[in-house]
Amino acid sequence: QRVGYAVVGLGHLSLEEIIPALATCKKSKLAALVSGSPEKLKKVALQYGVKPSSCYSYQTYDDLKNNPEVDVIYIVLPNGLHKEYVLRGAKTGKHILCEKPMANTAAECREMIAACNTAGVKLMVAYRIHYQPHNRKLREIIQQKELGNTKFIDASNCQSSANPDHWRHKKALAGGGALPDIGLYCLNTTRFVLGMEPTEVFGYQYSTPGNPLFTEVEEVMSWQMKFDGGIIANCSTHYNTHDSRYYRVLGEKGWVHIENAYAYKGQQMSKGYAEGKITNRQTLQIPENNQFAAEMDHFSDCIINNKKPFSTGEDGLQDHIIMEAIYESAKTGRPVKINSGVNLSRGP
Ligand code: NAD
Repeated sequence: QRVGYAVVGLGHLSLEEIIPALATCKKSKLAALVSGSPEKLKKVALQYGVKPSSCYSYQTYDDLKNNPEVDVIYIVLPNGLHKEYVLRGAKTGKHILCEKPMANTAAECREMIAACNTAGVKLMVAYRIHYQPHNRKLREIIQQKELGNTKFIDASNCQSSANPDHWRHKKALAGGGALPDIGLYCLNTTRFVLGMEPTEVFGYQYSTPGNPLFTEVEEVMSWQMKFDGGIIANCSTHYNTHDSRYYRVLGEKGWVHIENAYAYKGQQMSKGYAEGKITNRQTLQIPENNQFAAEMDHFSDCIINNKKPFSTGEDGLQDHIIMEAIYESAKTGRPVKINSGVNLSRGP
C-alpha cells in the first residue's frame, strides 16, 4: 500500500528533490500536482506519469477532495502561503505535510493546527533533519550521554543570496530573512538532538543599510539559547556569506562535529573523546539516505497505521514562538524567557 501525495507548488524543492524522491519511496507515491503554470503542469505530469485529471491550478486546488488517489497534500509554496493552503487543504479531508518554516507567525501556526484538528486530518511539518541518519546518531550519542553531560552547542547555517526580487526577500511571503529560512535548522536541530526546550533566548540582528536584499528581511541573526542544566547553544545564520553549515556539540568527555549538517547530502561526522588527557579523533562512517523519501515514508506510515507523526504541527509552532522571542530580544537588547505551554508530545 502506497500513500498518494499531491505536491503543491512546482518550484526548486518540488522539482529537484521531492518529486524525484517520491519515485524512490516504499510507502508513498506521487498522485497529483498543483501549480499556477499550465505549461509546467503539463511538462511535469508527462515526465512523472500523472494523469491530466490529477493536475490542478491554485483555483481548482479545493477539488482535490474529489480525488480518491490523493491521501496527502504536501505544501511546498512560499512560507507566507502555507497557512491559506493548509486551511483549504484540511477542508478537503486530506492529511497535510507542510514545508518548513511552518508559516510566517506563531498565530498562523495555531490556526493551522486548529483547522487540521477540526477536520480530523493529520498535520506534519517537513523537518527532514529528523529523518537524517547523522543527526539521528548525534541525538542518540547525546541522549545516551556517551560523552557525559552536554555542556555547549555551536550551530551555524549560512549562505549567500543574490536576487532581491525573490520571495525569500519579501517579508509578506517569507516571514523573515535568514532566521526562519536557514537559521531554523540550527534551532530545530538543537531541540531535536537535546530533546529539550530552551528556557531563554538572546538575539543580535543586523542588515547592511542600503543593500536591496535586506530592506525587508534580516541579513544575519546570531543568538543564544539557554536550557535547563546550564546548556548553552550558540547559533548563527547569515544570508550574505559563503556557504557554511555545521553542528558541533561539546560534552564533558568529548565533542561531536557534523560538517554539512543540514545539507541534502554530504554530511561528515567526527568525534573527539577523552582518554586521560589525550583526545582521540574518530570519523564516523554512517550511510546516507534520501531524507525527503524517509520523511514522506514516515508520514505515510503514520497514516497507514494511524500514528501521530514525529514532526508535529506543535513542533513547528514551538519554533515560531522561539523565533519570535529571538526577534524580540534583538529588538529590545534583552534576553527573553520562553514558557510556551505547547503540548510537544511526538509520535515514535
Ligand atoms: P521556489 O521559489 O523555488 O518555489 C516556490 C513555488 O511557489 C514556485 O513554483 C512558484 O511559482 C510558486 N508560487 C506560487 N505562488 C507564489 C507567489 N505568490 N510568489 C512566489 N511564488 C509562488 O521555492 P522553494 O525553494 O521550492 O521553497 C518552497 C518552500 O519549501 C518554502 O517554504 C521553503 O522554505 C521550503 N524549502 C524547504 C527545504 C527543505 O530542505 N526542507 C528546502 C528548500 C525550500
